[in-house]
Amino acid sequence: AGSGKFFVGGNWKCNGTKESISKLISELNSAKMESDVDVVVAPPYVYIEQVRSALTDRFEISAQNSWVGKGGAFTGEISVEQLKDIGCKWVILGHSERRHIIGEDNEFIGKKSAYALGQKLKVIACIGEKLEEREAGKTFDVCFQQMKAFADNVPSWDDVVIAYEPVWAIGTGKVATPEQAQEVHVAVRDWLKKNVSSEVASKTRIIYGGSVNGSNCAELAKQKDIDGFLVGGASLKGPEFATIVNSVT
Ligand code: PEP
Repeated sequence: AGSGKFFVGGNWKCNGTKESISKLISELNSAKMESDVDVVVAPPYVYIEQVRSALTDRFEISAQNSWVGKGGAFTGEISVEQLKDIGCKWVILGHSERRHIIGEDNEFIGKKSAYALGQKLKVIACIGEKLEEREAGKTFDVCFQQMKAFADNVPSWDDVVIAYEPVWAIGTGKVATPEQAQEVHVAVRDWLKKNVSSEVASKTRIIYGGSVNGSNCAELAKQKDIDGFLVGGASLKGPEFATIVNSVT
C-alpha cells in the first residue's frame, strides 16, 4: 500500500433485495474492520436510504452513477443533488459496465465528474483496458486517455480516488497479478506527475479492482502503489469484505 489512507469500496451493482441487504448491513455492522481505512459501499439507488439508516457511520455511501447536470426533465435519472440529499458522499463514475454495456464515453464521463465534484460529491473515477487492448499493447494508451478525460474536468483532485479496473478482470475471477496491477498504478501515478502535478501524483489514491477476494487481497495490498480496492462480487459477503478491508498493510 502507498502513503495515502487505504480505501476500500464495495460496488454492489444491480444486486440484492430488501432482505438480503438487511443481512449484509448486519454483517458489516458487526464485522471488525481496521479503523485506518476509508470504507465506502455503493448500493443500488433504491436501497440507499435503507442502507444509510441502518449502517453505522463507520461507512460512507456511494452511488453507482449520477446524472450529468442539474435534475429536471430527465426520465429515469438520479441527480447529484438528490444523492447528496439522501446521504451519499461519493459516486462511482466511468465504471466499465457503464462504459461498455451502457455506452458511456470519455466525454460524458468527464462532464459527469465535473458536475459531481462541483456539487461536492466525491468521485471514484474508474479506468481500465479491455483484454484485446491489453493484448494489442494499448493498456497505457487507453488508461491515459481515460485519465485525460477526468483530468480535463476535475477542479481539484482532493475529492477523487482513481480505480484501475482492467475490464478482463472484472467479474471474471481472473485477477490481475500484483505485478500487472502495480505496473499500471505506477504508470498512472507518473501520468499524474507529468500532466497534473507531483503533489497530486503522490497524494491521490489509486485503488485496484477486478476479482479481488479474501484470498488474493493481501498480496495485492503489499504493492507500493496500490492504495486500496474497489470490490464487486466479494463485497456482497460481509465477512469476506472485512478481510479485504483488513488487508491494509
Ligand atoms: C467492480 O465491478 O468494480 C469489480 C471490481 O467487480 P468484481 O470484484 O466482481 O470483479
